[in-house]
Amino acid sequence: MADCIFCKIANKEIDSSVVYENEHVIAFQDANPVAKVHVLIVPKVHFANIYDLGKSEQKDEIMPAISEAISKVAEICETEDCFRIIVNNGEKAGQTVFHLHFHLIGGQELPLSLL
Ligand code: 5GP
Ligand code: ZN
Repeated sequence: MADCIFCKIANKEIDSSVVYENEHVIAFQDANPVAKVHVLIVPKVHFANIYDLGKSEQKDEIMPAISEAISKVAEICETEDCFRIIVNNGEKAGQTVFHLHFHLIGGQELPLSLL
């Protein structure tokens, strides 16, 4: 999608610090981390949010790829026993980038207020 920052990162038009990648998903370091580990797990195809993915036929292949990426990123970042996944869905929920992304935060004890 034109002018979508996460599409450009997924297409390697913009540099990012890639942590993990599979056929459907790219995971990269958040530019403004709120915890020691803060990685964004992003489907390569553009969906505005998780509601839109849920309505798509592609969910059946993309959701398992996201699930796999979550486990791989937790292992790569050595935070398997302590992490949180957050998806802000909609502006009123705090979403600022309208390309679906899963925040994986961890690497430290996590207060409930984060994100
Ligand atoms: P949201 O508020 O939409 O749930 O989260 C958007 C996240 O994307 C924020 O944590 C923000 O720091 C991150 N972000 C925004 N623009 C960029 C960018 O260009 N590169 C990277 N790596 N992260 C970004
Ligand atoms: Zn996009």
